[in-house]
Amino acid sequence: MKRVLITGAAGFLGSHLCDRFIKEDFQVIGMDNLITGDLKNIEHLFKLKNFEFYHHDVSKFVHVPGELPYILHFASPASPIDYLKIPIQTLKVSSLGTHNLLGLAKNKKSRILVASTSEVYGDPQVHPQTEDYWGNVNPVGPRGVYDEAKRFQEALTMAYHTYHGLETRIVRIFNTYGPRMRLNDGRVLPAFIGQALRGEDLTIFGDGSQTRSFCYVDDLVEGIYRLLMSDYHLPVNIGNPDEITIKEFADEIIKLTSTKQKVICKPLPVDDPKQRQPDISLAKKVLGWEPKVQRAEGLEITYNYFKGLTQEELYKSKHRFE
Ligand code: UDP
Repeated sequence: MKRVLITGAAGFLGSHLCDRFIKEDFQVIGMDNLITGDLKNIEHLFKLKNFEFYHHDVSKFVHVPGELPYILHFASPASPIDYLKIPIQTLKVSSLGTHNLLGLAKNKKSRILVASTSEVYGDPQVHPQTEDYWGNVNPVGPRGVYDEAKRFQEALTMAYHTYHGLETRIVRIFNTYGPRMRLNDGRVLPAFIGQALRGEDLTIFGDGSQTRSFCYVDDLVEGIYRLLMSDYHLPVNIGNPDEITIKEFADEIIKLTSTKQKVICKPLPVDDPKQRQPDISLAKKVLGWEPKVQRAEGLEITYNYFKGLTQEELYKSKHRFE
């Protein structure tokens, strides 16, 4: 039976995963508490008979009736601004929430894939990051609530694997972009594109020499799908190794949007990683996966999505928890 529970279904990644599993003929159960997710991302699915939606917070006991062969845990705030605004929920969803979902998986004999992150490497001293690097994380800094919850999530998932023999998968997701990113989530791509569309200057944090490596969402979803269907239970990096400085990235957005605005520098946030690039040798080997979409192509699609937003959405730029 092809039935999957996707938590965080109304979020950026969750909604794209729902689309993919619907396409693969799954019965999809989406779950979200809508703190950072938006029903608009999945409203096109409500008319389908193989899609159900539960408005629920996975930090509380999770009940799903019937057989459930697969679970994907993608519920979590995922931007540094969100962690600052809702630190406790961020900690709870990847600790208590993961525990509830592992319990559900044990009960239903499901295979469960949990969304981990490159943030488990913290401000990495090994470059590019391989899965066997243990990271450099500040537990009490502003990102600690996310990084440590995700590290705990990995430990808990492995414990259920070794102690209960659960079928588990762990994906470490690197910076990902595409349509349905939240314009006001503070992440660099929606921040820059939003600023360009509103005719504001682009805000670079620090001197812009820090690097990131951006993966287009369809590539990420393909990697996750392959990992779920594989028999590999240790963590796997999924991301695009094409590394770029934030300054170069701002220049690309200026060119893409033809904005006449300039770049202005703002203070670098505490513990902002100086460099980030996935080593994807393992994903290539065990999943036969590598990203296909070039940044120029992915950015064009994403820009067109943001251009389609209403003026009201474009100017609703204040953070939603303010
Ligand atoms: N950043 C920036 N200007 C912004 C938002 C972010 O220069 O308006 C920088 C941020 O300091 C970081 C990089 O862009 O170095 C990526 O930030 P994001 O929040 O997207 O993701 P993360 O830091 O988690 O990789």
